[in-house]
Amino acid sequence: MKLTLPLFYLCFVAGLLAAITAPAPRYFDRTAAFQPDVATVVLLGVGTPVPHPSEFGPATAIVIGERVLLFDAGAGVMRRLAAAGLPINGVTATFFTHLHSDHTLGYPDVILTTWVMGRRTSLHVFGPPGLQRMTDHLLAAWSEERAVRVDGLERGTPNGYAVTVNEIAPGVVFEEDGVRVTAFAVSHGNWRHAYGYRIDTPERSIVISGDTAVSEELERVAAGCDVLIHEVYPVVRLKPEDRPGGELWPHYMRAFHTSDEEVGAIAVRAGVKLLILQHVVRMGGTDDELIAGVRRGGFTGEVVIGRDLARY
Ligand SMILES: [Zn+2]
Ligand SMILES: [Zn+2]
Repeated sequence: MKLTLPLFYLCFVAGLLAAITAPAPRYFDRTAAFQPDVATVVLLGVGTPVPHPSEFGPATAIVIGERVLLFDAGAGVMRRLAAAGLPINGVTATFFTHLHSDHTLGYPDVILTTWVMGRRTSLHVFGPPGLQRMTDHLLAAWSEERAVRVDGLERGTPNGYAVTVNEIAPGVVFEEDGVRVTAFAVSHGNWRHAYGYRIDTPERSIVISGDTAVSEELERVAAGCDVLIHEVYPVVRLKPEDRPGGELWPHYMRAFHTSDEEVGAIAVRAGVKLLILQHVVRMGGTDDELIAGVRRGGFTGEVVIGRDLARY
């Protein structure tokens, strides 16, 4: 059939109206496929600042029934949420461990892409002091787009990009239907505010280290938890780097991060059941070297090297 010009416009307008009036989609949302009310860990990105093609920026989802708690938002986080079958029009809440760029590069993606994908309610984010300022700057950076999306033919939801920022101190920061999230201070070099999180659910307790050097507070908070998700580097690979300032590299790593041997010792003392290693600063180290380091630290329990999109 040849489409006459008036008929073409009629179809165009009908399509546009259908798009405007359709209910907000929850694209890719397959949270129903997860065990109801059992907390599942989904590693969305296990990477570091290194733009590794198969290790996206740091991001971890904890899925409990329909609820999705997102911890950090590294580069590519929205693509990874889609790949994991999780909602791309807004998660239940987002928590930041600290404001290093590798953990926050996906934050504007979370704010804006969820909006474009149909978000209508405010995004709830939690994190250290400075998060409000970062959020204000991000919203300002994309201010030109908002008028185009809202007033133009896309008819974007006004205020669908809204963010409710909670700058938090250590303590219980989220509690809802038997799910509790507790922030605790960790030691990440000269960051004044860096947090780890403990997530308690009726079935499981999970601790996320964030970026940290050896932390007594983490060890105390992680005592008896089911799953410890911890950052790591292979100590046998640590040496000065061949670049200006590279002689300080080992000092930097010890002040900001935790070695495999140290993680092993922490996991033993905390009595964790499953240790998941992620945010691996490899320096050429292999998985076997990392596992051997954890064993030298004394941990004999289950330990895995995290991969993007793995579930536990
Ligand atoms: Zn990091
Ligand atoms: Zn960091």
